[in-house]
Amino acid sequence: ALPKLTAANPQAKALAYTENAAAVKHPVFKPGSNCANCTLYKGANGQAYGPCTLFPQNTVAAKGWCSAWAKKA
Ligand code: SF4
Repeated sequence: ALPKLTAANPQAKALAYTENAAAVKHPVFKPGSNCANCTLYKGANGQAYGPCTLFPQNTVAAKGWCSAWAKKA
C-alpha cells in the first residue's frame, strides 16, 4: 500500500493538507468539504484512506482536506 500523505511532503504543506477536515481554518475551506467528497479522491466508500490524483505516491485521509479541494460531480 502507498504511504499516508503527511506535511513532510512539500506540496502537501503548500496546500495545507490535513487529516482532519473538521479542524480546518483555511480561507478557502468550505464547510462539509473533505477528501471523500473531492473530485480528485479515488478511494473506496467506507475506507479511511484512499488514493488522490494530486498525490500519486501517497494515500490521503477520507476525512482529510487540502486547499486544492474541488467538489465531486
Ligand atoms: Fe484531499 Fe482533494 Fe486535496 Fe486530494 S485534492 S488531498 S482528495 S482535498
